[in-house]
Amino acid sequence: ENTQLKDIISHAKEYGFIFPSSEIYDGLQAVYDYGQMGVELKNNIKNLWWKCMTQLNQNVVGLDAAIFMHPLVWKASGHVDSFSDPMIDNKDSKKRYRADVLLEEKAAQYENEGDVEKANALLAEMGKLLEAEDLDGVRELIIREGIKCPISGTANWTEVRQFNLMFSTEVGSVADETNTIYLRPETAQGIFVNFLNVQKTGRMKVPFGIAQIGKAFRNEIVARQFIFRMREFEQMEMQFFVRPGTEMEWYNQWKETRKKWHEAIGIPAESLRYHDHEKLAHYANAAVDIEYKFPFGFKEVEGIHSRTDFDLTQHQELSRKKLQYFDNDLNEEGKPYGNYIPYVIETSAGADRLFLMTLCNAYTEEEITEGDNTKSRTFLKLHPSLAPVKAAILPLTKKDGLPEKAEKIFNDLKFDFNMIFEERDSIGKRYTRQDLIGTPFCIAVDHQTLEDDTVTVRDRDSREQVRMPISELKNYIEKAVSF
Ligand code: ATP
Repeated sequence: ENTQLKDIISHAKEYGFIFPSSEIYDGLQAVYDYGQMGVELKNNIKNLWWKCMTQLNQNVVGLDAAIFMHPLVWKASGHVDSFSDPMIDNKDSKKRYRADVLLEEKAAQYENEGDVEKANALLAEMGKLLEAEDLDGVRELIIREGIKCPISGTANWTEVRQFNLMFSTEVGSVADETNTIYLRPETAQGIFVNFLNVQKTGRMKVPFGIAQIGKAFRNEIVARQFIFRMREFEQMEMQFFVRPGTEMEWYNQWKETRKKWHEAIGIPAESLRYHDHEKLAHYANAAVDIEYKFPFGFKEVEGIHSRTDFDLTQHQELSRKKLQYFDNDLNEEGKPYGNYIPYVIETSAGADRLFLMTLCNAYTEEEITEGDNTKSRTFLKLHPSLAPVKAAILPLTKKDGLPEKAEKIFNDLKFDFNMIFEERDSIGKRYTRQDLIGTPFCIAVDHQTLEDDTVTVRDRDSREQVRMPISELKNYIEKAVSF
């Protein structure tokens, strides 16, 4: 199964989707760049999310807050004190590991060997120790399980320490404590601190939501599995503010809406599942992950969290500014509690994880038979609305005025769709190349085009061709690629 991930990683590199960061310097761990095809695909994912969240919901509006925020924000949110992972170092290799991941891998090994009971017992014991913040106990467990460093092969471990995931830097020129600021580890806090600004200036009535797309940064130690876990990544988050007491209703509604969205962008229902959190974060009273079946197993792509009034209450306390909403409807009903701090339902997705999910789901290898020949074909079966390039305009030959005719079609449609004009190589090779980047339509311009203004349109998935007038192209493509 992991060969499939390897194939996808090399495909992503070869066709301009994803490059390792600073590759000429041998890369930077867990940081990646999006290439000419990748940036289009990622923008399409983000735009579709944005449209579905804001444009399709009258009561959800957008925001674009800065990455830098006042240091007290991260004190209030709990990130300064508790956004950390338990780390352990091997004294011989000097390599650092996440203690919980070492134990999880051991449990997975037991499970693979068929001893599910032993695996569960180990996970349960680890859970208890972490809950009690018994870091020495975690170290003892690692030693008792005989876990060795894969590099040095020894079990010569240091103590376990909590390691904060936030990146910090200094503002201004003087390096002193008070100038330390953080790169945001989540975009949500930018929404919370602007809650009243948006509510008042937008005359928003609870329930309403604020959506935001932006970069987040985490100093992740377990950096593997390609763009699944990165140090710099992008989040697409929406905070939905509701009346206290109604939060479970909204939680269930968003949980369903979000899963349906993943299905609508082409992910089959059987490749998705919910995973309820048994252990809740300090701010939550309910939490569920939407997981996708990656080549390395079901893993989280989006979280839906019922965050209570934790964040707004904390910000009210530390900023000493009232963050209450005046609910006129309740007031008119004569209820005494017209003023309250709303409860929050959050939907939090990673743009890069959705990108990886989309790529894994689209990557298709099939056997095709042409006459007596069977050959294999690789193509990206992307939802047309996500495809980086919507159509390729391909003059059959480089002479007889075909390129000029094709260029005219290109120039007429380029305002509507992202397209490619390609006249090099045989038509078959050009089709193959478009298949590899997931272009839904290839438009061939041939000698008949010069006579009757018709072209052939080849469908990426069926490889079937239909002939149609140039004047119908726009509608035909638009219908397929609109969402
Ligand atoms: P994980 O358990 O995988 O570390 P998390 O539970 O910490 O994720 P959240 O804090 O809920 O994740 O973040 C919401 C979303 O942001 C996740 O569902 C994921 O899509 C994305 N995300 C979180 N961390 C990363 C990362 N290091 N790289 C890429 N995407 C990330």
